[in-house]
Amino acid sequence: MNLEELAQDELINLAIEHNVPLPDFRINNRFKRVIGRYEPMKNLIQLASPDYLEGWVKRSGYEPADAWVVVRDVVRHEFAHHLEWVKYGTVSHSARWRAYARAVGAHPRASAGVKERVVFSRAFSRMNGGE
Ligand SMILES: [Zn+2]
Repeated sequence: MNLEELAQDELINLAIEHNVPLPDFRINNRFKRVIGRYEPMKNLIQLASPDYLEGWVKRSGYEPADAWVVVRDVVRHEFAHHLEWVKYGTVSHSARWRAYARAVGAHPRASAGVKERVVFSRAFSRMNGGE
């Protein structure tokens, strides 16, 4: 399986395991400098293209063979946002999110080496502490 298929599979397994609706998943070939994104209002997780992800993995100092392990952490990171959103209606990198990150096996960090963006309306962003 390629990175895209692995990511889709991982999301399906996580949604089943945590008993929440499956977020939509899409590769976004336009992503530059962002590798993952969660959009709660669209129920959507997006990743950069597999080519871009592989380049990013390499530039980050990982072996190509570790690409999936690294990208899986991004998928799980975004899924932890989805869990927090479904359960609490918030999106953050708070202690609550970190607990979900640990629960899904993601490194509970905001971004160390992982560039992502959580997108929602400005009003909603203010409501949730400006993330
Ligand atoms: Zn995040």
